[in-house]
Amino acid sequence: MCGIVGYVGRSEAAPILLDGLRRLEYRGYDSAGVAIVNGDRVETRKCAGRIAELGKLVAERTPAGTFGISHTRWATHGKATDQNAHPHFDASGNLALVHNGVIENYQALKEELIRGGDTKFVSETDTEVLAHMIGKLYDASAPTNGSTPPQHEKNRLVAAVRVALQQVIGTYGIALVHRDIPDFIAGARRGSPLVLGVGKDENFLASDVSAIVAYTRDAVYLNDFDVVAVERDKFEISSVAGERGSYEVSKVEFTDEDIKKGDYPHYMLKEIFEQHGSVRDAMRGRLSLEECTAKLGGLEMTPAQLRDVGRIVLTGCGTALHAAMVGEYLIEQLAGLPTEIEFASEFRHRNTPMTRDTLVFAISQSGETADTLGALRESRRKGYRTLGICNNVASTIARESDGGVYMHAGPEIGVAATKSFTSQVTILALIALLLGRMRHLSTSEGTVIIEALEALPEKIEQTLKLSDHIRAIAKKYIAAPGMLFFGRQFNFPIALEGALKLKEITYLFAEGHPSAELKHGIIALIRPEIPSLFIAPDDAVFSKNLNNVEQVKARKGPIIAITSGSGAERLASVADDTVTVPSAPDFVMPVLTAIPLQLLAYHLAVELGRDVDKPRNLAKSVTVE
Ligand code: GLU
Repeated sequence: MCGIVGYVGRSEAAPILLDGLRRLEYRGYDSAGVAIVNGDRVETRKCAGRIAELGKLVAERTPAGTFGISHTRWATHGKATDQNAHPHFDASGNLALVHNGVIENYQALKEELIRGGDTKFVSETDTEVLAHMIGKLYDASAPTNGSTPPQHEKNRLVAAVRVALQQVIGTYGIALVHRDIPDFIAGARRGSPLVLGVGKDENFLASDVSAIVAYTRDAVYLNDFDVVAVERDKFEISSVAGERGSYEVSKVEFTDEDIKKGDYPHYMLKEIFEQHGSVRDAMRGRLSLEECTAKLGGLEMTPAQLRDVGRIVLTGCGTALHAAMVGEYLIEQLAGLPTEIEFASEFRHRNTPMTRDTLVFAISQSGETADTLGALRESRRKGYRTLGICNNVASTIARESDGGVYMHAGPEIGVAATKSFTSQVTILALIALLLGRMRHLSTSEGTVIIEALEALPEKIEQTLKLSDHIRAIAKKYIAAPGMLFFGRQFNFPIALEGALKLKEITYLFAEGHPSAELKHGIIALIRPEIPSLFIAPDDAVFSKNLNNVEQVKARKGPIIAITSGSGAERLASVADDTVTVPSAPDFVMPVLTAIPLQLLAYHLAVELGRDVDKPRNLAKSVTVE
């Protein structure tokens, strides 16, 4: 959430910072700002609104200078106003700071600063406290006998950052510049991601490598409590406590090309249409027809350890939680292991009974989701083996877990998660297969599962061809005030996910339920204006779903049915519209049925004129709790 970009080099900083912000805009987009040091002035431009608004301000009067910081905000404390936009300044106006995260004890720190007398706050943010604290500490450490060597100033600023951060409770990714310290940026992180991009005679700081991959693919992923001093030609990493830090320079997996929209009008549509490839990549090299099982070396578990697992906990938030719910059905059906779903945000705050042989999976596309990270830490603290299912390589969850499985889905920029969902479900199917084959599944059963998985990419391609048909359906329901989604078994979580997609990008009320729940209350909502979408493939529970469809029809509710095989025929007399996906065994069906729901939400949002890639109030990679 929120994006930070910093630059120090020989080029003009403004275009580089703005370009980086544009690439990070999916992380937060309610306000934005830059601060660039130009000789004896820190020039800042900031405003509420999108990066495009900031772009106009910068174009009117472009700040000159070759080092600076910038920010796109997702407000947590204080409204989205010009005043609250970052960067924030210390009392002297010489120090500018951008921040991602939440300073939980900001109120107490603020009161202390106000009591001290000379500090005036101009914003409602928690962030401003940090700017004042660091500035004050820096000024107080100034030598009384005049000028000092530049290195001394840098050390003093880094020391001030450390002392201030030692007093902070909460999360932060920060970057700051000071008027009096040329060609220098300081940064630090705890709980919010920060990456150092290592260039030639230039260096970068960013919350996400996608901001800087156009300039360099060499990156150092900072750890919690790292403080970094960045100059043009060198950098130094230490800890908040003042210890020397170690680091590793890694090569970014993707290129700038991968994060471009290409010919698609939206990232979301591009990502929906990438799913045959991303699902294939999730399985690549991980299926063994010889041993009739999945091979997941990243789990770092011996066969005996895998065999001894007695219980599984799957945790995540939002779309990842829905993938986890499909995982619950998969693992219980294919491996016969008791599996529990936990909202990551709740897991930590309740006493989930766990057995010694419980294996925990933390699922997060970004690998930075604060709630999921909290669940992971709590689970590890209690001594449980905790594994990650993430897309972002070297993300915090990936690094802090005992092992895991990367999704290899490529960058996902659209705020509404699409390809990450189908990749997560695919990986959970691989895990279910592996655990099943450690138990009762025979080689022939393993082979059937592998074949079903391997057939998926082609079936996804066929499903994507339904996009125009789904657009026509979306147009029919443009005036609908809301929509209901129903499914059974493997497709119950898909009903939840379909409703979530619709809420996220059309802003319509939507609910997902197990089909049979209809008669336990939801049926009261049925009326001619509210369409009900049934996910009813031709499977063991088709007839049961059909009963529910009839119940809605009898009350004049319009029906959209996602079905397969002979389902279309059997639904013909009751459904107003049917979408037929290719036939597949029930356990892989969710990967196919999710796609028409993504497309329906997408086309309806476009018809309604919504900002599909940057929906209201949302941001990708939710790094706050
Ligand atoms: N808490 C800070 C604010 O509300 C930073 C939010 C963000 O991460 O964008 O300004």
